[in-house]
Amino acid sequence: MERIKLIRNNLTFSQLKNKTETYVSSAYDYLNLDQFLTDKEVSYRKNLRKYLETEISPKISQFIEKEEFPLDLIKNLINKFPGILASTIQGYKSANFSQSLATAVSIEIARIDMSLFSFAAIHGGEVAMRTIYELGSEKQKEYYLPKLNTLEFIGAFCLTEPENGSDAYNIKTTAIQDSEGNYVINGKKRWIGQGTIADIFIVWANNPKTKEIEGFIVEKERIGISCKKIEGKLALRCLQNADLIFDNVKIPMENKLEKANSFSNSVSKVFLSSRIGCAWGVIGLCIGAYDVAIKYVIERKQFGKSLSSFQLVQEKLTKIMGNIQAMTFLARRISEYYEKGDATMGMAGLCKSWCTSRGRETIALAREILGGNGILNENYVMRALGDIEALHTGEGTYDINILLAGRELTGKLALV
Ligand SMILES: Cc1cc2nc3c(=O)[nH]c(=O)nc-3n(C[C@H](O)[C@H](O)[C@H](O)COP(=O)(O)OP(=O)(O)OC[C@H]3O[C@@H](n4cnc5c(N)ncnc54)[C@H](O)[C@@H]3O)c2cc1C
Repeated sequence: MERIKLIRNNLTFSQLKNKTETYVSSAYDYLNLDQFLTDKEVSYRKNLRKYLETEISPKISQFIEKEEFPLDLIKNLINKFPGILASTIQGYKSANFSQSLATAVSIEIARIDMSLFSFAAIHGGEVAMRTIYELGSEKQKEYYLPKLNTLEFIGAFCLTEPENGSDAYNIKTTAIQDSEGNYVINGKKRWIGQGTIADIFIVWANNPKTKEIEGFIVEKERIGISCKKIEGKLALRCLQNADLIFDNVKIPMENKLEKANSFSNSVSKVFLSSRIGCAWGVIGLCIGAYDVAIKYVIERKQFGKSLSSFQLVQEKLTKIMGNIQAMTFLARRISEYYEKGDATMGMAGLCKSWCTSRGRETIALAREILGGNGILNENYVMRALGDIEALHTGEGTYDINILLAGRELTGKLALV
C-alpha cells in the first residue's frame, strides 16, 4: 500500500500535475527509429509519410471496397519517389537506399495500407525483382530491372499451385526443353499476387532432365497463358491474386534464370530476404494500428472522461507498444545478420512467424480499442486485422516458418 502511494505521489502529483498533458502520438517516434537514418534519410522518410498520408491514405478505402488495385496512385508514387519499389537493390534505376532506409520505407507504406506494401514486396526488391537480381544473368538484369523499377513492367512470382502450397518442393508444373532448346511450360499456379496485371511472371517449374526446380521469366504475351482473378478475399483486398494456367507455353532458352537451378539454392534465397521483409511490413502495419488507436482514445470520451485515462485501455496500448518494440528489436537484429550475409533460413522463419503471431494480437487489441468504430473500413484497424491473417499465411505459413526455425534449434527435421 505504501509503495502504491509512493508511486502515485511520484507520478501523478509531483511529476505530472503541473505539466501540460502529453502523449505518444506515433509508435515510430516512440521507438526513435530515425536514429538509424542519416539526416538526409530522415527528411526523405518524412516527405514520403506526408505524401502517403495526403495523396494515398484518403483515397485507398474506395479501392479496398471495390477490390481494385490503385495502379495510378502507385504510378504517381513512383514518379515522385523514383526507384522506391526496389529499395534494397543496388543499381538498375533503383533508389539505392541503405538497409535502414529501405526498412523505414517499408514501414511507411505498410502503415498506410498492407496491399500496397504487398504489391511493392512481390513486384519489387523482396520477391520478383529480387529473384532477377539474385538469380538472373547480367543481360536479364539490365533488360528487366530498370523496366520493373519504373513500372513499365509489373512482375509476379509464381510458385504456389492449387495442390501444392506449403509443399512447394513438390510442385507439378513442368518445363521441358524441345529439340530447338526452347522450354515448354505446363502447369497451374494459384494465389499469384498481381497475376491479373503482371507483364512478366517468374515461373518455378520442374525440369525432368535435371530433376530440379528451375526458374523462368515468362512474358504475358506468350501463347497459352490464361488468368482468373481470385474474387471475394477479405484480406489484402487491393492486391489482385490470380489463378494461372500455363498450357504448352513456349519460351526461348534465354528466358531461363541463369542461376535458378534448384529449390534450395534459388527459391530459398528469395525467401530468406522476403520473410525478413515481411516482418518489417508487419511492424509497419502494427505501427499504423497504434497510431490510429492512440488518436482515438485521446479524442473519445466515455463516462465523462477521455478513454485514454482508463486503466484497461492503457494496458492494451502498453501491450501494443511492447509488441511493436519487441518485433522491431528482433527484425533489426536479424536484418543485421542478413546484411552481413549471416542470416539463416531458421532466423528468417523465426522472424517472420513470431512477428505475424505478435502482429495478430497487436492489431486485435487496436481494433478492440476503437469499439464499434473499429469495424469501419475507413478506420484502418479492421482491414489490418484481415491483412495480418494473409501475412500469417503468405511467404510460408506460420507453421512452416516455425518448423524451419525449430529444425535449426533442434537439428531435427519435423516438417514432413
Ligand atoms: C494473399 C496471398 C498472397 C499470396 N501471394 C503469392 C504469390 O504471389 N506467389 C505465390 O507463389 N504464392 C502466393 N501465395 C501463396 C502462399 O505462399 C500459400 O498460401 C502458402 O504457402 C500456404 O499454402 P496453402 O495456402 O496451400 O496452405 P496449405 O499448404 O494447404 O496449408 C494449410 C494449413 O496446413 C498447415 N500445414 C501444411 N503442411 C504442414 C506441416 N508439414 N506441418 C504442420 N502444418 C502444416 C499450414 O501451416 C496451414 O495452416 C499467396 C497467398 C496469399 C494468401
